[in-house]
Amino acid sequence: MSDTVQNLLAKNQAYAADNYGIPPNFDTLSSLPRNQAVAIISCMDPRLVPEEYFKFHKGEYPVIRVAGGRVKDALRSLLVLEHHLGLGGVAVVHHTDCGMTHASDAEFKATFKARAATAEQVAEIDAIDFDEIHSKDVRASVKSDVKYLKESPWFGKEINIVGLVFDLNTGKVEQVQ
Ligand SMILES: [Zn+2]
Repeated sequence: MSDTVQNLLAKNQAYAADNYGIPPNFDTLSSLPRNQAVAIISCMDPRLVPEEYFKFHKGEYPVIRVAGGRVKDALRSLLVLEHHLGLGGVAVVHHTDCGMTHASDAEFKATFKARAATAEQVAEIDAIDFDEIHSKDVRASVKSDVKYLKESPWFGKEINIVGLVFDLNTGKVEQVQ
């Protein structure tokens, strides 16, 4: 595995050497009109890469990748974006065959509580909501996450929130109403 990490470093050296362009600095970004940014929440799963399936480039959209694309896990990052830029929209993307449909909250907790050495460590794991996707129903989990965001007090009234499901078999995203 350490070879894999070394390989990443070598690839980065080639990337930096190949006409790397310096992006706008933070002050420039934060001086842009507010509520224009659209955040994409997608799964960390390497089989689906938002920059590829939405065909966009560096600097176009902030992407938050967390297990299952669940919004509660992404909330801290969304709040940072809202504070700095104001959000104009959020696209929540869940996907077929997601790892979060293949284990329950209790199963995740059992794995890590078995490794805990102290009561504090057990409590740390108990405090995590693994946000399993029940019955492998990613349409239901998308609807639930969109509802959560729409009912959240942290974003502007004009924010546009859409829920999508990415199908690993076709490469297509479909909007969930
Ligand atoms: Zn997934």
